[in-house]
Order: sequence, then structure tokens, then C-alpha cells
Amino acid sequence: MKGPRAAAVHPAFDDADDGYDAPCGADGAEEAPESSEREALRSLLQQRLAAYLAGGRPRVILTDNLRTMLSIKKGQGLLTFRVHRMFAEAPPVVLRALARYAESHDREAAAVLRAFVDGNEHQIRRVTAPRPVALDVQGAHHDLQALFDGLNARYFGEQIAAKITWGQRGQRRRRRSSIKLGSYSVEEALIRIHPVLDASDVPGFFVEWIVYHEMLHEVHDMPIVEGRRIYHTPAFRRAEAQYERYVEAVLWERTNLHKLLER
Ligand SMILES: [Zn+2]
Repeated sequence: MKGPRAAAVHPAFDDADDGYDAPCGADGAEEAPESSEREALRSLLQQRLAAYLAGGRPRVILTDNLRTMLSIKKGQGLLTFRVHRMFAEAPPVVLRALARYAESHDREAAAVLRAFVDGNEHQIRRVTAPRPVALDVQGAHHDLQALFDGLNARYFGEQIAAKITWGQRGQRRRRRSSIKLGSYSVEEALIRIHPVLDASDVPGFFVEWIVYHEMLHEVHDMPIVEGRRIYHTPAFRRAEAQYERYVEAVLWERTNLHKLLER
């Protein structure tokens, strides 16, 4: 899904996108395709689960989470199951427990699920912790932490826990055709802002707007729809438009993007 304003989206500038980062792409890379094998597993699990539910439609999202093996959200006649990939081939007794747990928080069902998770611990991907990134917040012209803290207080009730940093400096490339002004890494809980924005002729409200966009990624779902991860849902776009200088920011980007591309 593409936003209505392709010119005002912000693709990630790091290439370390594992499909769970929000690349905020303006260049068509906005939705990372899931592997077809994984999508087949997901869709099969969704169908199987539907058979055990008394009412409501299931939507299944497979995760590679390290801690949260299962979470269930209800809304609009839809039960969203975010489950670790280990559930893809779970036996019927476990699916029945999943459905019962979703519908009534049944304690016996919870015990079945716990036992299943314990028995499949080996399937939890052991990743080496991401290398800690040295945070660089104080630019020559813009203080990212100050912008972040202000936004966190005004828009997010101080609930955003991500860290923020300028992206690596000194990686100037000639002849850009697009530029990724910000990115949010779910795995690292880290927002990166492109250092090209640390300039005296880039207004603070514009940097703030990019930071705001990336902060929204921490609170908005990135659902997989028809095998594609959607980073900018309609709800995301509505929240984006709540930024107090939204119109000005979009306009500034339109008028000045070419300058940023040349840097
Ligand atoms: Zn984005």
C-alpha cells in the first residue's frame, strides 16, 4: 500500500533492513514481501485456527520474537493472533487451546499453550544481541534528543521508548535519486535520522516531522496483508497528519527535496 503523498514518505537509509524495520520507502520498497513458504504457513495456520473459533475471524501474524511468543488482540470482528513461527505447525490440541484462550482466557488452555512454548524453546531464534550503537544525538544544528523529548511529551504521553541517533556521517554519495531521511528499527528500538538534515538551512520543524514519523512506527502495527508487510497503514497516515506543522513540513519537503539529494 502506498500513501497518497509519495513525495513525503521517508525511506530508510540503512540497508540493514531485515523486513521488520520500517523502511518508510518512497521508492517502492515500502512493503517487504514475505517469503512464499512463510506466507503459506501463515495462511494455513489462519485457516486451521478459524475452524476452532466460535465467532470472529482470525488474522494470523507469524513472528520471530524472542520473548513474546503469543499476543492476541480483538477488534472489529477480527481476532489478531501474533504468534511465534513455532505455532505454524502446532497440533490440533494447541490450536483448540489458542482459540479457547483468545475467547475466554481459559486457564487450562493457557497451561496447554505454556507447555507447547516450553517444549519448542529450541525453535526460538538465538540472535546475538545487536551491536550497541553509539548514540549521536547532538548535531551541529539540531538536537535530536530535544526534538524527540518534546514530541514524546506533546504527542505520546512520554510512552515512546526508542532511542534516537543521527545516522552515520561521511557517507556522501554522488547522484542520489532518492534519500532515506529516517528509519525505525524494531529489533534495535532505534530511530536513525539522516545526517543530511543536520544543516542550518533545514528548519527544525522539518527535522521534527521526520522524527515524529519514525516515532509513530513504535506505536503502529506493521501488519502482513496478502504476504506483504504494510508499514504505513491508514491509521498511521491519519496519525501522521496530526503533526501540528504537517502541511508546512510536506510543503517544505516538496520544495527542498532536490537540495537534500545534492548533498
Ligand atoms: Zn515510515
